Amino acid sequence: MKMVKEDLKYVRMREQMVKKQIEARGINDPKVLEAFINVPRHLFVSEALMDQAYSDYPLPIGEQQTISQPYIVAEMTQALQLTENDRVLEIGTGSGYQAAIIAEIAYRVYTIERIHKLLVQARKIFDKLGYHNIVMRLSDGTTGWKEESPFDAIIVTAGAPEIPYNLITQLSMGGRMVIPVGDQYSQELIKIYKDEKGIRQTQMGSCRFVRLIGEQGWKN
Ligand code: SAM
Repeated sequence: MKMVKEDLKYVRMREQMVKKQIEARGINDPKVLEAFINVPRHLFVSEALMDQAYSDYPLPIGEQQTISQPYIVAEMTQALQLTENDRVLEIGTGSGYQAAIIAEIAYRVYTIERIHKLLVQARKIFDKLGYHNIVMRLSDGTTGWKEESPFDAIIVTAGAPEIPYNLITQLSMGGRMVIPVGDQYSQELIKIYKDEKGIRQTQMGSCRFVRLIGEQGWKN
């Protein structure tokens, strides 16, 4: 990320967010904590909501979609066990904040969004902040991004009725995936680990995301 001039007020709010909402709840991967300190979250929301950007809840980003609560972004990022060489697929670009956090840690982020307006908004902010390792695509992410697969990690940031099979096939050996699965009111966050022996799943706790809409998601 390139340095942008920002109000010191937001730098302090961000430090407090990391200390009180992220570290205090057990996120301890130094790379994740550093990414949260670096990414100016307030620039990923509308001007009217900037002062709430570091609060402990999701916020609207237009098109009936949301930027997720900071803690859940941190929890999902940590679960991906990212390294600097990893190529990561994100389904659900939304505001672009989660992609920027991953871009701070990993080699490259491939992010898919189905709503054109959100994609354009996110691209503007990536350009402004100089994230040249984020590649975007407008499509139904439930079918993945076959040409760029396999991925070392996959993160789905919308709630799926079940795990899209295509995404599992696009995960590399040793790959990790995090996805909320359940009905439209509540989901279980599931972590998947794939290796030569097959697929292992662990449950990380309940969460609530907007719906993953698509061929292997909800049908509207
Ligand atoms: N990761 C986002 C962020 O950091 O702001 C938050 C994502 S928001 C909770 C969920 C996003 O998933 C929405 O922008 C929605 O349009 C998108 N979405 C839903 N179904 C999708 C699909 N099949 N393919 C791509 N994006 C999808």
